[in-house]
Amino acid sequence: MQTMSTKPIYSGKAKDIFETEDPNVFRAYFRDSATAFNAQKKGEIHGKGKVNATISALLFNLVEQNGIKTHFIKQVTENELLIKKVNIIPLEVIVRNIAAGSLCKRLGIKEGKILKTPIVEFSYKKDELGDPLLTRAYIKNALEITDDKTLDYITELTLKANDIFKDFFLKIGIKVVDFKLEYGFDKNGDVLLADELSPDNFRFWDATTNEKLDKDRFRQDLGNVEGAYQEMLKRIKEGCAGVIARSETTKQSQKRNVETQHFSVRVQVLPKQDILDPQGQAVEKALISMGYKNIKDLRIGKEIVFKVKAESSEKAKSEVDQMCERLLANPVIEDYKIEIS
Ligand code: 5GP
Repeated sequence: MQTMSTKPIYSGKAKDIFETEDPNVFRAYFRDSATAFNAQKKGEIHGKGKVNATISALLFNLVEQNGIKTHFIKQVTENELLIKKVNIIPLEVIVRNIAAGSLCKRLGIKEGKILKTPIVEFSYKKDELGDPLLTRAYIKNALEITDDKTLDYITELTLKANDIFKDFFLKIGIKVVDFKLEYGFDKNGDVLLADELSPDNFRFWDATTNEKLDKDRFRQDLGNVEGAYQEMLKRIKEGCAGVIARSETTKQSQKRNVETQHFSVRVQVLPKQDILDPQGQAVEKALISMGYKNIKDLRIGKEIVFKVKAESSEKAKSEVDQMCERLLANPVIEDYKIEIS
């Protein structure tokens, strides 16, 4: 069990980060505090810390299962996650599927417009500058944050995460409007998905009613903020239970498939060497008389092909062996050879 220090080494707008005994592991404590518009609006959302820690744990697990490496290790209490230490890249990586928030303000587009394809954009993670939108040239040549290769990789991971989330949330009746991700480098230099995954950094709309179920309820004073966060937790838990059930079913059906695998069988039956084979002798004689004088020991047999269901090729072979002994060959005068594939 890790001994936890009491003083955070970093205190963000909604989370405190603590060191642990392991220098490569931190503890993230999710608070109920909420901010909006670059901390100009401040408040509390009762129970948010627990909800966001739990939703983050569930969603980090979901993306990990789908091949995206993250800083998440495990949830240790209702409000706390153990996370790998990473050097955060100071970029807010935002994906948009539907127009909302700053995109609408910047471009004068109506909220709700479905974007032709998902948009990935980068903002500078700098509160005092109001997290300004960045171009690649700003990132590479002015701020010198990172290079094209890393930006391409992060974009690829983000679009992959978007596909995973859209698919998962659709099943629980939620549209993923947009979200913000952060990445960091671990001690090996690998890029890990970091920060949190919650209604604080996602826009979630109910798929039927378009009701907002995220921090916009707090930003826009829509009321029932706690209710929206709780509703998201409930649906995500149900969705994850569905994912587990589906993966169990897949595992069981794979197991069943293994149990009932079909094997192709080829049985070759030939008269024994020391047994008279009149048919073979007649054909050999005919061939020699036709001029094929270089042949000898010709024997004529039969080949039997079929498929057999069995748990393993050994079991299939043993069963076919019995078939040969009992019916397919006459063991007194014939030899047989079994091929299983
Ligand atoms: P927008 O740029 O429209 O304000 O935000 C786009 C998406 O990124 C929204 O889902 C929003 O919640 C998220 N986002 C943008 N900036 C921040 C931020 O500084 N903190 C958090 N938690 N989320 C952000």
